[in-house]
Amino acid sequence: MAKLFGSSGVRGLANVDLTPILACKVALAVATHAIAKKAVVARDTRVSGCMLEDALVSGLLSNGTDVLLAGMVPTPVLAYAAKALGADVGFMLTASHNPPQYNGIKVFNGDSLSYTDADQDAVEKILADENFALADWRSLGKTTPIDASQVYMSMAQKAVTLKRRWNVVVDPGCGAAFSIAPQLLKALGCKVTALNAQPDGYFPARKSEPTAESLQDLAKTVKTLHADVGVAFDGDADRVAFIDERGFFVNFDRSLAAYGAFALKQRGGGVVVTNVEASMCVETMAQKYGGKVVRTRVGDIYVSEAIKRDGAVFGGEPCGAWVHPQLHLCPDGPLSAALFLAALEEEGKSVSEFVGEVPEYITMRENIVCKNEQKYKLVEKLSDALKDAFPAYTDFSTVDGARLALKNGWLLVRASGTEPLIRLTVEGESPQAAKDITQKATALIHKQIEANQT
Ligand code: MG
Repeated sequence: MAKLFGSSGVRGLANVDLTPILACKVALAVATHAIAKKAVVARDTRVSGCMLEDALVSGLLSNGTDVLLAGMVPTPVLAYAAKALGADVGFMLTASHNPPQYNGIKVFNGDSLSYTDADQDAVEKILADENFALADWRSLGKTTPIDASQVYMSMAQKAVTLKRRWNVVVDPGCGAAFSIAPQLLKALGCKVTALNAQPDGYFPARKSEPTAESLQDLAKTVKTLHADVGVAFDGDADRVAFIDERGFFVNFDRSLAAYGAFALKQRGGGVVVTNVEASMCVETMAQKYGGKVVRTRVGDIYVSEAIKRDGAVFGGEPCGAWVHPQLHLCPDGPLSAALFLAALEEEGKSVSEFVGEVPEYITMRENIVCKNEQKYKLVEKLSDALKDAFPAYTDFSTVDGARLALKNGWLLVRASGTEPLIRLTVEGESPQAAKDITQKATALIHKQIEANQT
């Protein structure tokens, strides 16, 4: 049986890969594994959400698990509600930033932490064996609708205080933050203009992934209204993206590095967690405040796990998934937007000034064709060759692919998870440094592929 869970739970085409039958079985398997008494279930705005939710809830009830129905709310609202309401497990029906025909199931434990690889493997084993715990007819679960937004709002309003009346344009992109993001910013005293704040599972306004391209309308609106900032989220609002006061999209690495530095300054040092693909500007900024950066595999669960393990002050990935561990362990878009404003206020800076302190490095990417059956072995073999080719390296890690930190940059070689490709990512202090590292590493990868073929 192929592995069902990926790095973000179960994901696939609605009613093709992810059918109601599968949703019901996944719920039943998770409830069996967690010996669950209470679960919270929510969904994003996707068209297939109701169909999958009914099936998933049915699986939980048949296990004897009571279900709190949170309705259409962001992933972080679901994860926080599961924690705050003492549930054993939380289920979010979402395909995050993927196109509208997809859907997925993200599973959280009662500590707002996404299911780990070990939990997922245990669930898959129960599923494969159909070893479900079915309740006696007298002990079936019950459903109760809840207002998860209220639970989340009271947490967020306690966590963030703003003195200034920030002029904010918010773009939920017709996704799960359509209601709560404008509501939270208004409750904090902001002047809020909302774009695409109607729930629509076809995502007609823009792609659900926030990028410089998909946020052009938001950027124009920020400029036209002379707003202080634009904020946008992905489909399930566990990611945040910013537009600065001049109407420019803020590079994800730089906002992550700037906020990480702020968190370290506030706490007087500590650990910031990010993944192997993030820019070294995260380190540059952390070092200013005596902080240390821990790098994990790509995937927000690995970032959250490391945050918990190392007692980090902050963590995130350069796709806008930011985790604030003092509140909960799920990446949280709306909360990140509010905390970002509080940081600007504390520092007395505009968005461009706050992010402008972060150095800009040069990133280069190459995809090199390599057979699927060879790609993983090849990355393993490359480790030694890379170390020989760059003898002055300062750090070497195989936490995800092979990553070599150099004095003037770094390089990462990974096998693509889905395509017959080796992906090379390079960052350099200068354009010349990035070019030199890329050329040397690319030549080495080609040489290794040729050597494998003969
Ligand atoms: Mg997401």
